[in-house]
Amino acid sequence: MSMSWSLAGIVFEPRVPRQRQQVTQLYKSAVAMRQGRTGEHMSTQVSICVIGSGYVGLVAAACFADIGHKVICVDNDEARVKQLCEGGVPIFEEHLPELLAKHRGSRVVFTTQLAEAVEQSEAVFIAVGTPQGDSGAADLSYVEAVVAEIARAIKSYKVIVEKSTVPVYTNDWIRRVLHRHGVAAEQFDVVSNPEFLREGTAVVDFLHPDRIVVGASNERSAEILRRIYEPLTGGDYYARPGAVPRTSGNARAATLLVTSTQSAEIIKHASNAFLAMKISFINAVANLAEAVDADIEDIAAGIGLDSRIGPKFLRAGLGYGGSCFPKDVAAFHWVAQERGVNLQLLEEVRKINDTQREVFFNKVRSALWTLRGKRLAALGLAFKGDTDDIRDSPAIAIIKQLLQAGATVTAYDPAAMERAKEVLPPAANMKYADDPYHAAKDADALLILTDWKEFAAIDLARLNRALRFPIVIDGRNLYKPQEMQSHGFTYVSVGRQASYQAQEGKPRKLPV
Ligand code: NAD
Repeated sequence: MSMSWSLAGIVFEPRVPRQRQQVTQLYKSAVAMRQGRTGEHMSTQVSICVIGSGYVGLVAAACFADIGHKVICVDNDEARVKQLCEGGVPIFEEHLPELLAKHRGSRVVFTTQLAEAVEQSEAVFIAVGTPQGDSGAADLSYVEAVVAEIARAIKSYKVIVEKSTVPVYTNDWIRRVLHRHGVAAEQFDVVSNPEFLREGTAVVDFLHPDRIVVGASNERSAEILRRIYEPLTGGDYYARPGAVPRTSGNARAATLLVTSTQSAEIIKHASNAFLAMKISFINAVANLAEAVDADIEDIAAGIGLDSRIGPKFLRAGLGYGGSCFPKDVAAFHWVAQERGVNLQLLEEVRKINDTQREVFFNKVRSALWTLRGKRLAALGLAFKGDTDDIRDSPAIAIIKQLLQAGATVTAYDPAAMERAKEVLPPAANMKYADDPYHAAKDADALLILTDWKEFAAIDLARLNRALRFPIVIDGRNLYKPQEMQSHGFTYVSVGRQASYQAQEGKPRKLPV
């Protein structure tokens, strides 16, 4: 019995509305009775293999275990697997250490042995990287390598799930590669199940998703995905003691949307492109706001209160970064071009984003006159707050530019310093501090490069005392200009008028 209905070929699995809850409950009891279920969440248990133990794979593995499945998580990085087996947690994510501690060795195990893991699993999730290639297209070589390995290991029916972000028709390609390696059509299905989690809130996002998208070409494979996510779509998980709670509000059963494989692939690319577009839009408006003495924070609040628009992703700043938006916007644009479709809009989104870093760099230069020999404190290295990920981080790009211009930088980040040292090794002109105040000590100015909550709550009086000159150039709009002025700072932010210490006054604009 299916709880879904269909519209124009798309099957909807709604959040369980109040009037249907009783029916759902009866249905679940019937299923439980039929399956002789005695324990709490036995009926839906699926044996799962997750390939890739990065930000997506590791979080998915831990969360699948937490909702009741048996998971084998595979990575070809031996050091990483060793660390995971020995109790380490290679990435910074809230709730992840607790989930791994709870399930490691029982419901989730780690290995480098892909073939064995595939053999023992009903569903095989591919969660390896899909970085940007030279042309802008996604580099799918990691996915292809994994598919070839899976092909050699298949001995009975498997549903292979593409969780990595991939361009449209990748599902077809995976199928084709499996055929080429001699796997019979009845031994597998390939399903697209894109992931929408955000680093920093990945566990909560995974367990309390806005939606779960399943691109499937037949009912058999769609049904396995329904079973996997049933604890979330049926709402059982949320009633269990120890379930990871939502950040705010009550938990609600997740919506599962079944589509064609192409639609699922495009949903992921289009979602990221849309969010990137929102960020570039507000940044472009921020530059206008600055030019006409308006305030982008008021403008964003005024726009965001419109329920058709919403307040999220309307934060003006240094632009987007990270391992997803830049490459996904490029890959989506490439796909459209390949098909002869004009999605030039995405090129503008990218250009605005690149410009934003330049605009900020010029603000630093304007505030300090010259950069050679200047000592700068940089707060933030991660591409956004609450993560240790520095991939395509605007903070790293800006620091590199400042170093090139002859400045000395002392940086602090609550989570990303170790990773940052790999791309910005400690040197005479590149230092790392243990806290924001040590970074600020005797600096000519302080730059805010990442939106960590810790930075927003900084002791402004102490910061002022630490700095050589009380100048703050804030790429993330963490403070209120009036408050900064009252603490005696020269304060330059994004899309708002700069405020200057009384004795200094506003400098004339430098030629760019
Ligand atoms: P990641 O680089 O953090 O992790 C990928 C892992 O795959 C690495 O640990 C790597 O060692 C492993 N790997 C590579 N080849 C392998 C192989 N042949 N066998 C076994 N393991 C192998 O990447 P990520 O950030 O987790 O992203 C994975 C995918 O998910 C990408 O397509 C990305 O676009 C997508 N995605 C990422 C996020 C995010 O916030 N990071 C969100 C949604 C979707």
